[in-house]
Amino acid sequence: MNLEIIAMGEAVVEVMRTEVDDPLDHPSTFVGPFPSGAPAIFADAAAHLGHRSGFIGAVGDDDFGACLLDRLAADGVDTQFCPRISDRATGVAFVTYFSDGSRRFLFHIAHAAAGQMPDASEEYLRQARFLHICGSALSVSERMRKVCYRAVEIAAGAGARISFDPNLRPELLGGEEALRRICAPVLEKAYLVLPSGSEAELLTGVKGTEEACKALLDGPAEVIGVKRGAAGCSVFTRDAKLDIPPYPVEAVDPTGAGDCFDAGFVVGLLEGRPLEEVGKLANACGALGATRKGPMEGVFPREAVERFMEEGVPPE
Ligand code: ATP
Ligand code: MG
Repeated sequence: MNLEIIAMGEAVVEVMRTEVDDPLDHPSTFVGPFPSGAPAIFADAAAHLGHRSGFIGAVGDDDFGACLLDRLAADGVDTQFCPRISDRATGVAFVTYFSDGSRRFLFHIAHAAAGQMPDASEEYLRQARFLHICGSALSVSERMRKVCYRAVEIAAGAGARISFDPNLRPELLGGEEALRRICAPVLEKAYLVLPSGSEAELLTGVKGTEEACKALLDGPAEVIGVKRGAAGCSVFTRDAKLDIPPYPVEAVDPTGAGDCFDAGFVVGLLEGRPLEEVGKLANACGALGATRKGPMEGVFPREAVERFMEEGVPPE
């Protein structure tokens, strides 16, 4: 059975403060573990939308690893290249939210099992019709970058379209120049880029979302889907610009919304839908992603997403 969509990078569990405005530097309460990691959320959401999806990564041989692998397997994601690594713990992201909407992360990834992501076989990579890469994976370590760059070469060489979510976490970065350098090998092959407005600016060094997206389209990218949080999204190609309104929801936890959005976008393109429909499906997946506490808890099956798009009411 050929896979259609492959994502790769960090699989982590997320552990979050139960209250807002509660920093991470003192004893207090947490809730979790929630399955997380941008590319893992993406793969899970793509599988929920009805497409054969695989995730390349690594977990530890521990309970947090089981939490991740059990969820991915239950949701139909292929994990044959997501081994349990016996001498490393599963990656963890701690997060706390502030009432101004900002959040702060503390990551244990590079030296955890996630940082040991294996090379997948060429045969595995060559089946993909889309390979999804996240900037968060590129910022983990030199090793993660190498594994991602190789996969991009192989998959793109076999005709896959590369989608790239810069998904930049300031906590993992070493300045704008470093960021552009590590993203360049993926951007050079990317068909689709899925940034926020500020990420588009950071990637290009060009001010203004629209100008930055035009600069991205001066490269090989054919489609840019810009995430605008509660305002929906904009889609840019060389000859079109669409602003696509959001599906209003009560946002409970925005983390992971971007990855759900990405899955909707990639699935829409894979199905050959018009860009307007692609953006709507992505907006719906992103909006639903924000309605649940836990980054992967707002992933819903296709029927539920379509019902939400018709009726405007999130699933119970
Ligand atoms: P993350 O990186 O944490 O996964 P992000 O910052 O990349 O998230 P957002 O812009 O917050 O992504 O959200 C992605 C998409 O999800 C938005 O473009 C929009 O379509 C949808 N979305 C997110 N929040 C809301 C909201 N409060 N109301 C409606 N739609 C939302
Ligand atoms: Mg994002």
